[in-house]
Amino acid sequence: MWRRALARIALPLLLVTGVAATAAAQDKAGTVTAPTPFKTLRGTITRADFEQYREIPFDLPPGVTRLTVRFSYGGKDQHTAIDIGLADPQRLRGWSGGARDHMTVSETDATPGYLPGPLPAGRWHLILGVPNVRAGVSAPYEAQIFVERAPGITEFADAPLDTHPGWYRGDLHMHSGNSDGKCKSQTGRKIGCPVYRTVEAAATRGLDFIALTDHNATSQYDAERALQPAFDKLLLVPGREITTFFGHANVFGITSFLDWRMTKPGYAQAAKWMTAAEREGGLVSINHPGVPSGEQCMGCGWRVDDLPAGAVSAVEVVNGGTLAATGRADHPAQGFNLWNRLLNDGQHVTGIGGSDNHDADIPADQPGAIGTPTTVVYMPNLSVHGLLDGLRAGRVFIDVDGTRDRVLDLAAIADGQHADMGQTLHLPPGRTVRFALMLKGVPSGLVQLVIDGKAEPAYRAAFVGGQPVALPDWHSDGNRHWIRAEVRDGKGRLVLIGNPIYIAPARASHR
Ligand SMILES: [Zn+2]
Ligand SMILES: [Zn+2]
Repeated sequence: MWRRALARIALPLLLVTGVAATAAAQDKAGTVTAPTPFKTLRGTITRADFEQYREIPFDLPPGVTRLTVRFSYGGKDQHTAIDIGLADPQRLRGWSGGARDHMTVSETDATPGYLPGPLPAGRWHLILGVPNVRAGVSAPYEAQIFVERAPGITEFADAPLDTHPGWYRGDLHMHSGNSDGKCKSQTGRKIGCPVYRTVEAAATRGLDFIALTDHNATSQYDAERALQPAFDKLLLVPGREITTFFGHANVFGITSFLDWRMTKPGYAQAAKWMTAAEREGGLVSINHPGVPSGEQCMGCGWRVDDLPAGAVSAVEVVNGGTLAATGRADHPAQGFNLWNRLLNDGQHVTGIGGSDNHDADIPADQPGAIGTPTTVVYMPNLSVHGLLDGLRAGRVFIDVDGTRDRVLDLAAIADGQHADMGQTLHLPPGRTVRFALMLKGVPSGLVQLVIDGKAEPAYRAAFVGGQPVALPDWHSDGNRHWIRAEVRDGKGRLVLIGNPIYIAPARASHR
């Protein structure tokens, strides 16, 4: 996995928007090499170009999904200045003057100053404008053109916002005016909420990442690319809510169009968008599966019952809208039933939360506000790749109240093996498993281990004020199991939900 290696050595240059996803390569020793330009345009600017425009042609093949240009030139010590712009075969795609040394354009998003849209095959031009070059000066320039030929994971930031591994807190489900998200206008009218207001509300809550998941929309990505530099502590994750008559699911990490139009329940039709999302490196998470479908919420309940193993990576276990309506994270209309069923089938599916916010003005202390609930993910770094890796790895918990300080972490130790949430212990029968629980930010309450979906009374421990919580040992029986922790506060409310540690039969011995 090149992206794991990339995260480990944190080479910011290689995360340059959209370039690395397909162009970076990994050699046999595991070293990440710089992406290879599709073309490099070189030349020299002289006094003959002073106050002139030069159009440098290059031919784009069919099927390009993203084009990125990196531009550099010499002679700056002699006050040479070169402006840049880009034209496709039909029109000027943008002009950044002397403001930028790189830009990217794709179907859905482009660097500010440039227009997103199809990338037609044919003759493109890099346009150079020369406001100044002194007589006798010869200034070399170089433009590296990078192309992606298949849609993949999109980063809106040039580099991880934070390179440290650790817990990051975010909201994976919310809506802006690109679908039905609202907020108030200057005069107090409810309007389709512009992306910046939704993003600002998330930043005010101190979140580390958000996914704006407008219904079947890809129009929010261009605004997110423009906003990301201003929000350099809040990762904007490409997202959308695939919204069908037979259930809703979020897709994270990718920006290409996915055709959501299903006319029958079942995987035969859902596979169309699910497999495309998977192929492009995106992550599919089923939303609010326990909400009943009907005239109250048309198409909301999940009715694709024949999902093959591995079709989805996550389930929204706690939905902020359901939290606001029922007051409970463990209400039957939340997502536990489907999550338990998939886990009991032997699938490794990460449980997450999402506010499903449709009004950026909802005050922060209310359920369904942006950030309530929060999903807390152990990530290799704060980037889209880091989030997807973290969600897939499964060291994740749901902070129902969206606090900034609560932590729930569980590890299991047996037979010289250590497993964090999301990892697997391979055990023959009769082994003793010890648990190590880390809990912060809940003054008193109850910790419960849930084993194969059952809250076993023997694995329940009351705690007060920062005292370490002791959980009894568990003994393996040679079969497959899953074990996760959850925490209730002093009033009995479910406030923290951990992800499973998996127990699998011992691996066959080769001796
Ligand atoms: Zn929905
Ligand atoms: Zn939604």
